[in-house]
Amino acid sequence: MKGTGDNVVTPQGNLSDEDFNPWLRVVDLIERAGSLLELDRGLIQRIVTPERVLEVAVPVRKDSGDIEVYTGWRIQHDTSRGPGKGGIRFHQSVNRDEIAALSADMSIKTAVVNIPYGGAKGGVKVDPTELSRSELERLTRRYAFDIAQFIGPDRDIPAPDINTDTQVMSWIMDTISMLRGHNSFGVVTGKPLAIGGTLGHAGATSVGVTICTLSTLRNLGEDPVGKRVVIQGYGKVGAPLVRLLTDRGMKVVGVADIKGAISVPGGIDPAILEQHFLDAHTVVGYPGADVVPAEKLFDIPSDVAIPAALGGVITEAVANSMAAKIVVEAANGPTTGEGSAVMKERNIIAVPDVLANSGGVVASYFEWAQDLQGFLWEPEVFARRLEQTMQSAFDHVWAKRLQWGVSFRDAAIAVGVERIAEATTLRGLFP
Ligand code: GLU
Repeated sequence: MKGTGDNVVTPQGNLSDEDFNPWLRVVDLIERAGSLLELDRGLIQRIVTPERVLEVAVPVRKDSGDIEVYTGWRIQHDTSRGPGKGGIRFHQSVNRDEIAALSADMSIKTAVVNIPYGGAKGGVKVDPTELSRSELERLTRRYAFDIAQFIGPDRDIPAPDINTDTQVMSWIMDTISMLRGHNSFGVVTGKPLAIGGTLGHAGATSVGVTICTLSTLRNLGEDPVGKRVVIQGYGKVGAPLVRLLTDRGMKVVGVADIKGAISVPGGIDPAILEQHFLDAHTVVGYPGADVVPAEKLFDIPSDVAIPAALGGVITEAVANSMAAKIVVEAANGPTTGEGSAVMKERNIIAVPDVLANSGGVVASYFEWAQDLQGFLWEPEVFARRLEQTMQSAFDHVWAKRLQWGVSFRDAAIAVGVERIAEATTLRGLFP
């Protein structure tokens, strides 16, 4: 990991120089925002540098009786505006720099949508598809125990992310509740309804992405009806998006998952794809679709491209051959620095992740607020507040982009950094 100047230089062992390093990218983005806002160097350094980095060994007894030791992290990036907030991912490619970058993204994201949180992120380097359900439970509970002193409803509140779901959140909530000796529903969000969850959390990220997509088109003077979209990923975020965008008159002409990509120039029927996916566990084989190589998804003629899976996928080469003129970043960190430069040259607008996918953390905030109050909101109240929060964040960043004359991404980061800088300055420096 590397902060500003010669601060905190601890490179991650398994990243080579040629690899995309998301931490260096986020440092660059925050520093750029700091210059735009004319913040002093010490303040920028405080905002860039994570407050706490916890690395833990996660030993797990496998069903065979053997023991395997995994590595996990929880990083609290900034808590000047409220407790740390951010997901936990289980993936074989997780490393400290990635978690650090994602934790900084969360600080900015919660500031962009102006909810009273800081930013944090966690992860375990593991391929969960190789674990049985009971191994997954033991891994989750041991990791929750390992980070228990770090997290809590007024400290740091994890949530689902890649390969973690309501069940994983239930196990974490239960483990922490057992340790504390009382129920601690507010310690994680994204829980099932029966144990402190909220209606509306599932799909909230996709609702936010939809609002950002429609608002971008309208602000550019384009009618969303009939506009063609390609979506990379058919999981928690991508699958609801196919339906939400189609319901609003857009045509989803391409979808990819880890097994491949499909092209359907006439537009996908969400109900047929949902049924096909239930049966086949992949989008490949959707009736009448042309199969295209997954890496060619963004070449399919389209108006809007939505990466909704892993980070670092829009590289220089992908950006060079991309058909769409608008990218809405439903995934975290999908665009590399080089990809971003090519998009700028080619006048492709990117609605940045810290705005586009913030519906998820807004829903988490609503869940946590209900847990703390012990009072459940009506679904309409939840939906209305989610829409208002997303729309006003979008409108604010759009206005700032025009006022500052910078890219959408730079405007969003600067809006977030400005709010973090204000909180940091107001609080002063202890001691
Ligand atoms: N994992 C989601 C994100 O990256 C949600 C985080 C949260 O709700 O805390 O925004």
